[in-house]
Amino acid sequence: MQTTDIGQIVVNVNPPYTVFIGENLKDKMVEFLGNRRAFVITDSNLFSFYKDFLKNLSQHIFVFEAGEESKNINTLMRIYDFLIDKSADRHSLILAFGGGVVGDTAGFAAATYMRGAKLIQLPTSLLAMVDSSVGGKTGINYGGYKNIIGSFYQPEAVFVDVAFLKTLPEREYLSAFAEVVKYGMIRDKKLFEFLENSVDALKNRDLESLRFVVERSIKNKAEIVAEDEKEKNIRALLNFGHTFAHAIESITNYKRYLHGEAVSIGMVMASRLAEKLGYMRSEDTKRLKNLLLSFGLPIKVDFSINPEQIYEIMLKDKKNRDGVLRFVLTMGIGNSIITDSIEREVVEEVIGANE
Ligand code: NAD
Repeated sequence: MQTTDIGQIVVNVNPPYTVFIGENLKDKMVEFLGNRRAFVITDSNLFSFYKDFLKNLSQHIFVFEAGEESKNINTLMRIYDFLIDKSADRHSLILAFGGGVVGDTAGFAAATYMRGAKLIQLPTSLLAMVDSSVGGKTGINYGGYKNIIGSFYQPEAVFVDVAFLKTLPEREYLSAFAEVVKYGMIRDKKLFEFLENSVDALKNRDLESLRFVVERSIKNKAEIVAEDEKEKNIRALLNFGHTFAHAIESITNYKRYLHGEAVSIGMVMASRLAEKLGYMRSEDTKRLKNLLLSFGLPIKVDFSINPEQIYEIMLKDKKNRDGVLRFVLTMGIGNSIITDSIEREVVEEVIGANE
């Protein structure tokens, strides 16, 4: 059944595009595609769940093995071969149906094929819905580095159908709440409070609550992206907790934690840092921790941590400028700033405390 009530958020970049949000959006998607040639890129898990749905969208479907390991140059080349083989041109639509791995890889293929083919993002994981499908960052991993090759390439539209979340594995599902909590922390206290009051409904994947959370997250992201598409300043707010998280993921070879789980730990560190510097009250850090814990997310690392080593990795983060570490500091829930003048000792102390 198609929901008549479809939310729309316009991302005001040049040219602007619309994010459609609802349940069972198939008819809307088919209408949007019209008679344009469409090419679906997806992964093996999604294909096994949604083969029939995808065949309704297009008869041209490219499937690659699910997983972060596939986000590489080899998959990219296979996508180019598929597009050439099917005589796709730059007016063709590339439909990225999947989580962030599909969105980033297919998005980069679209950005580069014939100097840019049309791209539609159809996110299926919660992380892709609330984060990666909106904002135009695309790319692949290379030479052991995450997202080292990529481009900013905005889609023509994004269709966020929360009904797909029913089949998302539990750990993937819960881990994405870290990114939602992030929006609450950096600029949306109401969202934070909604999460606190809706943990059970959200854990039960109640579609109405999910819709609210997804829509609100996208609105936050869209507003930030519209203000600073290429991350020259304010977009860096979205990195709250991420500098710590990237270092934690890197030191554990991307095996121990899902990205959202590392972000969860990173946000607690960032909040503790803000607390140490007098920006944040300890009650607010406690609220953050409780909320993360209620979604089953980790709030500290479960191995013995070496703060100096973590700091050295953080220094290499590609988001730094001229070797200076930048942090997003929360000033209470729903308010944040970016700063680059924090002493190393203070940062290491917070990492070492791991609490
Ligand atoms: P993912 O794409 O690997 O998806 C996670 C797993 O869930 C996969 O096994 C996938 O097959 C499966 N899956 C997805 N949707 C499903 C559904 N509806 N039903 C059943 N299974 C489903 O991972 P992810 O967490 O979605 O995304 C992570 C990637 O996103 C990383 O590569 C990260 O770098 C990238 N990312 C990009 C941005 C950006 O702005 N471009 C932002 C954040 C993260």
